[in-house]
Amino acid sequence: MSDLNILSEQTVDMPDAPYQARHFIDGEFAQSADGQKSDRVSPSHGVVVSQAALGSNIETEAAIRSARAAFDDGRWSRLPAKDRAAILNRIADLIEANVERLAVIETLESGKPISQARGECGGAADLWRYAASLARTVHGDSHNALGDDMMGVVLKEPIGVVSIITPWNFPFWILSQKLPFALAAGCTCVVKPSEVTPSTTAMLGEFLQEAGLPAGVCNIVLGYGNPVGSLMTTHEDVDMVTFTGSTAVGKLITKSAGETLKKVALELGGKNPQVIFPDADLEQAADAVTFGIYFNVGQCCNSSSRVIVHEDVADAFVARVVALSRKVVFGNPMNSDTQVGAIVTTDHQAKIDGYVRQAVAAGAEVCLGGHIMSVPGLGTQFYEPTVVRGVTPDMVIAREEVFGPVLTVLTFKTLDEAIALANDSTYGLSAGVWSENIHTCLEFCRRVQAGTVWTNTWMDGFPELTFGGMKQSGQGREIGKYGFEEFLEVKSLVMRIGRKRA
Ligand code: NAD
Repeated sequence: MSDLNILSEQTVDMPDAPYQARHFIDGEFAQSADGQKSDRVSPSHGVVVSQAALGSNIETEAAIRSARAAFDDGRWSRLPAKDRAAILNRIADLIEANVERLAVIETLESGKPISQARGECGGAADLWRYAASLARTVHGDSHNALGDDMMGVVLKEPIGVVSIITPWNFPFWILSQKLPFALAAGCTCVVKPSEVTPSTTAMLGEFLQEAGLPAGVCNIVLGYGNPVGSLMTTHEDVDMVTFTGSTAVGKLITKSAGETLKKVALELGGKNPQVIFPDADLEQAADAVTFGIYFNVGQCCNSSSRVIVHEDVADAFVARVVALSRKVVFGNPMNSDTQVGAIVTTDHQAKIDGYVRQAVAAGAEVCLGGHIMSVPGLGTQFYEPTVVRGVTPDMVIAREEVFGPVLTVLTFKTLDEAIALANDSTYGLSAGVWSENIHTCLEFCRRVQAGTVWTNTWMDGFPELTFGGMKQSGQGREIGKYGFEEFLEVKSLVMRIGRKRA
């Protein structure tokens, strides 16, 4: 499309050599016993940017054994919380000192723009600091009205060994939504990043070592869902699995972890509605929708992928979003001004395009974009900013997660219809409402089925709040007090005090 804002120029230097990502097991970096590695070719630049060890059952078993021993001997769980917090804060310092290194490799592996990778990796340090502050808040209850000679105490204790499995779209952020909270609670961990974007997780191993985290408390194994992820979800020595990724893999993990009745926390997909009422500030709403659909190249669980707009303002609203979409800076992810980068893999690009073709065949209208796109000098692993309207609730594009820069637009007439459309999904991750009327907003907030509801804003997040999905978007919560408590087990102590009376 000729009138798009496309940027080919590069302002950030490429690294001299591919990053060598290794496992981090029992406090030591290691290659795989069988020497297996995989090359990651940058989706934007077409060159090998990292070489990562590919783990087998041997490394996974060693990592789980190390985490189990570290938990059982209390080298971490029985450390005073203030000492655990100090180490987590040192890790946050090291993350902040290395943001540019992290951001460059994350950009090159994922295709996301460097400005967003910097925000993600730098912002993650705050999650570590917040988790450090929670370490010192663990407390249970005491009960002294159980009878004259009885006292009860409820303790909160770390749950044990936690398997952490993460996806490719926000590798460092999502890791930081889980790992520091598990560590703050006193758990020990085995981490597996996506095979597509392993390097920032491997790099974290350097910071854990430098900050003085005791060996075995956090182990990192690189590799595929099978065998590494599978063993992490079935092994008897693992007490809990926390997973972020697709709903399909989340269901598999629930089954395999169920064999040994592990606790499972899941953060899965979304098909998030943003509902625009006719009295909304349309300018602000269009800005937020445009940001929400192109952020992270649309490959975001919180993507504002399903706009539901009142029919009286639909034409004006869509025209505004299309105009803003033309101004969004697409192109070279290694340019600090780029806002939308490359698609993570060619398979995923074909999937996005397939959803658009299917929608057109079903009668929807593409009012912007809708094609695979090339950026001069960088090749064709990009996708045009795309707006599809005339979408009906039964169409596949209205129901499934596209996970690309593709906005679908549906319309409504009444509040009840808007809420019914918003809830007409197997997902329930996040939702948004735009109206100047507080009653409309509150009614929507109360009736919508979503773990997070934004009112006249989109995608703002705070470590103090909590995050997670309803329905098939997940189970359990992350970050905030409630996310932290997922890593704590509850134990009742019943004590006889004094002598038993006749
Ligand atoms: P994915 O489910 O394909 O993979 C996620 C992780 O699971 C990877 O590390 C993968 O290697 C591993 N895995 C695959 N099969 C496994 C198995 N059988 N056992 C154990 N581990 C296995 O997801 P993806 O493509 O990496 O990420 C995209 C998906 O993640 C989207 O659906 C998106 O909505 C979701 N997501 C959700 C959130 C959220 O917080 N709700 C955030 C980001 C991404």
